[in-house]
Amino acid sequence: MFHHRAFDGHETVVHVADAASGLRAIIAVHNTARGPSLGGVRVWRYGDDDAALTDALRLSRGMTYKAAMADLPTGGGKAVVCLAPGAQKTTAMFEALGRAIEGLSGRYIAAEDVGTAPADMKAISQNTRHVTGLAPEDGGEGDPSPTTADGCFVAVKATAARLEKPLEGLHVAVQGLGNVGFGLGERLVAAGARLTVTDINPERIALAQSTLGAEAVAPGAIFDVAADIFSPNALGGALSADTIPRLRVSGIAGGANNQLATDEDAARLTQRGILYAPDYVVNGGGVTAMVRTYFGWSEADVTRRVAAIADRLHEIFARAEADGATTAAVADAMARARL
Ligand code: NAD
Repeated sequence: MFHHRAFDGHETVVHVADAASGLRAIIAVHNTARGPSLGGVRVWRYGDDDAALTDALRLSRGMTYKAAMADLPTGGGKAVVCLAPGAQKTTAMFEALGRAIEGLSGRYIAAEDVGTAPADMKAISQNTRHVTGLAPEDGGEGDPSPTTADGCFVAVKATAARLEKPLEGLHVAVQGLGNVGFGLGERLVAAGARLTVTDINPERIALAQSTLGAEAVAPGAIFDVAADIFSPNALGGALSADTIPRLRVSGIAGGANNQLATDEDAARLTQRGILYAPDYVVNGGGVTAMVRTYFGWSEADVTRRVAAIADRLHEIFARAEADGATTAAVADAMARARL
């Protein structure tokens, strides 16, 4: 464990096995310097145990950085539930996971992630109160996507301002028109921007064309669109050695997680003179919304915290220019300094 390539001084890593429900899970607590560790519960069929452990370690570390840059009183954690081939998730598994989370005495707070839904959080909540992401009718905060989109809009505005481009007439190329990307598109169009969009789902494209007046291109062509800002809101890895040379934009700001395919891609963007707003700073509105009810915050508290994403980005942009560093490296250094 201590020599694992993704081990990064994690405080606690718990392996959970519950014979009655068939649950096999790993809970990784990376860092609690700022408060209890927060992170989603991912349900996945991993090829082997090492893949599951690597995912838990890597994702919990990412949550530490995201929470620090969102100025939350939380650290980074993650839980992964390992499904056996052919097995399905069950309520009993999440109830057992709730017992294991309760055993950590509040050092890990569960949330939704890939493969989990509010009903799973409700099952966890049968045995612990250290869980977010419940449905509104169960006293939870509901879908965080609108708040994530709010934060992305704040980030696009901050990036455009740094580039001295007015929002009126700003041309944004949007990749991915799901909960976040479409919500961002709505906010941009209302503010006078124009969109070129893509999605692998033709229905989402048709909706953006009819309701947002967007132009559309094929998924692979979004990297070639001449625009002011490129906004990745689909899956990770959009910015790579293959795509970066093709970009014809001045800035990048979007909600997708893990946009840089490799660490070197941050330098590739800098070399091309493209201003990159670090993904985990841009999409921090989601985690902020997730912990609202846990910490008893008001809607206004969340709005104020989301608006502060602009201040953080301006500080990152200024420091990166002053130090000749990439914005990604500056964001990581700022996050570490906040621990
Ligand atoms: P979603 O599933 O609602 O939307 C994703 C969209 O991207 C879908 O419409 C899908 O068809 C499209 N897509 C997938 N691959 C594509 C491709 N190659 N080219 C073009 N379109 C493609 O997901 P979401 O909730 O909108 O999240 C989007 C991204 O933001 C993800 O990376 C997610 O991890 C991240 N994120 C989301 C939240 C949140 O609150 N939902 C918070 C933080 C980060």
